[in-house]
Amino acid sequence: MMNFDFSDRLARLYDKLAAEEVDALLITKLANVTYFSGFRGDSTALLIGKDIRKLITDGRYVEQAVREAKNFTLVEQTEGLYKKIVDELKISHCRKIGVEGNVMTVAERDYLAKELDGFEFKSVALDTLRQVKDAAEIECIRRACRIADDAFAKILPVIKPGVREVDIAAELEYFMRRLGSERAAFTTIVASGWRGSLPHGTASDKKICAGELVTFDFGAMFKGYCSDITRTVCVGKASAEQRKIYDAVKAAQAYGLEVITAGKSGKDIDAAVRDRLTASGYGDYFVHGLGHGVGLEIHEEPRLSKLSKSENLLPNMIVTDEPGVYIENFGGVRIEDTVLVTSGAAQPLTRSPKILIEL
Ligand code: ZN
Ligand code: ZN
Repeated sequence: MMNFDFSDRLARLYDKLAAEEVDALLITKLANVTYFSGFRGDSTALLIGKDIRKLITDGRYVEQAVREAKNFTLVEQTEGLYKKIVDELKISHCRKIGVEGNVMTVAERDYLAKELDGFEFKSVALDTLRQVKDAAEIECIRRACRIADDAFAKILPVIKPGVREVDIAAELEYFMRRLGSERAAFTTIVASGWRGSLPHGTASDKKICAGELVTFDFGAMFKGYCSDITRTVCVGKASAEQRKIYDAVKAAQAYGLEVITAGKSGKDIDAAVRDRLTASGYGDYFVHGLGHGVGLEIHEEPRLSKLSKSENLLPNMIVTDEPGVYIENFGGVRIEDTVLVTSGAAQPLTRSPKILIEL
């Protein structure tokens, strides 16, 4: 296993600091704390700037932080995280502070403003710095994808009429753990029959019935990195309509692999695949974006959707390709791969079969 290159990450963070014209950044979003320091606990903040590079945590995490966050000076807080942040900023020479406005609460913001007279705060977004993955990150996500694939192969024999969705979800998560997953990357979705029209139908008490389509959306986690895969199977022989919808989604998903490429915008990629589903008559039933970045967070930048702000995909971004069709009182089909962006066609990292499996 390769090591993460923290010097490159910190260099890009200092560039950001300069570009935003702030003296220091207060990093409080867990994924960003992990990305820039290596520390994987919670309730922790990074202060990084001209004359400061500190990790502030509490007694539960001191030993772990010393091990994991080698590039930071550890500060232990005993009277509250924000109290210590205030103390550290007061003794620094930093006065203009970038904060993560998309995660900081109003109460935290008010506290800083009250305690730090004469300081200036600016909301800074750091998430885009995590978009392009390095070799070690790609390796971790590849592992997380392989775990999900192997677990999926193991649960196929479990999918039978009479079995509850929650029981299949439990088996799936158990197999992922046995195969090396730290935890499920997100709440496992098992949506059978009519529930298939709920794009985020997490597993329920509903029993699987013969003749139903069943959608599984799940992911593993390896060294903090997520995978994300969806497959839809049919319990018994598929009807003509079920097969027609499945084939339309499968073709759209395959087309997605072609159009997800470096240089294209998130909006254009989404539109291209949406147009393909519209041509097959199902565009109106595709009610979400085509995909999202995957990394330390299950949903991160860049987005592939109508609202995407990503103008230009770059090689080594990792995104999902997940068109779906959802029809009320009928059910749904979604097929999703986690894919690596290259200068050519996207490379699927999840490799489970995409032919319609009839169990
Ligand atoms: Zn998914
Ligand atoms: Zn997804």
